[in-house]
Parts: sequence; structure tokens; C-alpha cells
Amino acid sequence: GATIGIVGGGQLGRMLAMAAARLGYRTAVLDPEPDCPARQVANIHIAAPYEDSRGLEQLAAASDVITYEFENIPGVTARSLADRVPVHPLPEALETAQDRLSEKIFFNSLGIATAPFVSVESDDDLVQGLARFGGNGVLKTRRMGYDGKGQRVFHQATETVVRGTVAAMGGGGLILEGLISFEREISIIAARGADGRFAAYDPAENVHRNGILVRSTVPAAIRQPTAEAAGQAAFTILESLGYVGVVGIEFFVLKDGTLLANEMAPRVHNSGHWTEAACTISQFEQHIRAVAGLPLGSTERHHDCVMENILGADQEKASALLSEPDLLLHLYGKAEARPGRKMGHFTRLYPLSAGAPPLAKELGS
Ligand code: ATP
Ligand code: MG
Ligand code: MG
Repeated sequence: GATIGIVGGGQLGRMLAMAAARLGYRTAVLDPEPDCPARQVANIHIAAPYEDSRGLEQLAAASDVITYEFENIPGVTARSLADRVPVHPLPEALETAQDRLSEKIFFNSLGIATAPFVSVESDDDLVQGLARFGGNGVLKTRRMGYDGKGQRVFHQATETVVRGTVAAMGGGGLILEGLISFEREISIIAARGADGRFAAYDPAENVHRNGILVRSTVPAAIRQPTAEAAGQAAFTILESLGYVGVVGIEFFVLKDGTLLANEMAPRVHNSGHWTEAACTISQFEQHIRAVAGLPLGSTERHHDCVMENILGADQEKASALLSEPDLLLHLYGKAEARPGRKMGHFTRLYPLSAGAPPLAKELGS
């Protein structure tokens, strides 16, 4: 059968490999870690760094199509792979998403609103930007950040407080965003097939602690027009990129229901893990279907649900969860439970609430 190559062998790569196996595909995973989570599932594990030309050569030789589980592989790497084997999502999508500045410019160019932002290369840029945003903002590294790493929040920051920050954060390559006082955060998981068909799951409402996702609840407590706006934004983004595969897009929801796009991940997303429990076709299968050129599956939800991440040593509590009947437990097979490390997740299922999300009904919409 055909082989799907996956760059990155963390839990996302592992779950993609599981979905691929069920559809009869073989998988080849490139990941430097000898004991990476995907290794136990994939047919082939190439233990080499992502930029290593020999490793990439091996992956291209073994694969009929290549995808990835994380967005920080260098653009040149993705392009050199794409010269030999189809790569989905396209390297252009990857490059747009891996730089927070180009990502926000891209969103705005499509008429999708974001937090206000400025590029920061010096303390002077930072001081001027903060002045523009009323002294409040979030300074982020443009590249490589995840789980809130590489970020600093400023509240009523004075110039003296700010001095030296840019040097401490790598000397440049930063973006300052206005600090948004959102009412809630949501994300939408959507897919575009090789045939151009579009499908989106219901938006999830997400809670982060210390910048790390801890819980996703579906349905989100938003009104129908807000949910529709998220779907429309996803459609516009995927169309404009000629995208093939699954995407995760995060939004801030303001009091009046206005959406501000925060970021997109050109891959399956942690806030979409609930789909494996509450939908017939999970985000993982959906992604494999898209990159393999198969028709997309249904995104319909047969339950309400709450997904929670199992972080660090919390894994020990996981066995107790098995006594709950309507709970899907998913562990990643990681040996070492470092604090904050994503060890697994679980999804609790509830009967489908009719029609609109609970809060929307409460509000009488
Ligand atoms: P992920 O793990 O989702 O990729 P990340 O490291 O890329 O996270 P962001 O999603 O940009 O980081 O930010 C993490 C969290 O910090 C957000 O979910 C949100 O709760 C908060 N946050 C980020 N930017 C802003 C902002 N401009 N205003 C207010 N809160 C923000
Ligand atoms: Mg991110
Ligand atoms: Mg995020």
C-alpha cells in the first residue's frame, strides 16, 4: 500500500499514524527522538534531525505523500521535500503560519481581524508600541513559540521596566500585540480536501493555564453568528492558500461576539482532540483523508463533550478515569512525565444538547 510520510513523531504524529493505519496506509515518521511517541505506531521511524539532508532523503524515498505534525520545520526543508514528493499542507501555508508577523498580515489581508500588532526589533520599537496600546501588550517571539513559551505580558509598563527586554528575548524577531480582554477563547478545526471541498467541526471553547491548553468544551458558549464567522474565516483562509489538510485556528471572542484571529496551526490541533470521541471521523482521519486524496468525512458531532489534557505527573490519576463509562482516555506512551508535558488527554461525552449552544440559548439568541 501507499506510505504517508510524517515530519515529527510527537503525539500528533502518533495519532496521525494511528488514523493512517486504520485506512490501510503505511507511515514513515521523521523525528530525532529515538523514543518518540509515534515510533510505537509508525511502520518506519527515521531518527534524524528535521534539517538533516540524509534523513529527509530517506523520508522522501519512503513516502508517496508527506505531511507534518508541527509547523516549525524550516521552509527550505519543506520546499526541498516538495520538489520530490507531494507535501500537504503546501510549504507556503507552513511559512505563513510559522511567523506570527506574516500570519497576522495574512489574516488582515483577507479581512480577518486580529489584535493590533507591531514588529519589534529594538527597545525603542517596544516602547513606541506599548505607548500605542495604552501600556498593555503581549510581546512574543515571531517564530518557534508554543504553549505560551517565548512571551511576555506587559500591564501599564513604564519605559524603565521595558528597557533590556528585547535583548533578553533574543535581540529581535519579535511582535508586540495589544493585550486583548477577551470574554472567551475558541478554536475551529477545519479541513480542505484535494477536491477543494471544505468541512469544519463545531468551534471548541478553550481554557489555557500558563499558556498551555488545559480544556476544550464543545459546544462553545457562543452565539450562532459567532460560530458561523469562525467557519467563514477558516474557509477564506484555506481557499486562499489552496490548502489541503486540517487546520486549527484560534480566536479571541470579545463581549459583543466579535472574533479576533490569534493564530493558525497548519496541522491537527490539540483543541481538536475531542473529535476522536464525539465525531465519527476524527481530525486525524480527516487530515489523512485530505493528504491522501480521499473524500473528506463528516464533521458532525454526535455528543457534547469536554476534552482535558493530562499534563506531567497527572498521568498517575489517569487510571481512575477508566472507571467512568462515557470517557475516552488517550495516552501518548511517553516514558518521562516532566512538569507541564502533555502525557495524554481524555474526553468526557454528554448527550447532545439540542440546537444552539447552552449559553446562546440562555441569552435568548
Ligand atoms: P499554542 O500552544 O496555542 O501554539 P502559543 O505559544 O503559540 O500557543 P498564543 O496562542 O499566541 O501562544 O498565546 C497563548 C495564550 O496567551 C492565548 O491562548 C491567550 O490565552 C493568551 N494571549 C496570547 N496573545 C494574547 C493577546 N494579544 N491578548 C491577550 N491574551 C493573549
Ligand atoms: Mg501557537
Ligand atoms: Mg495558541
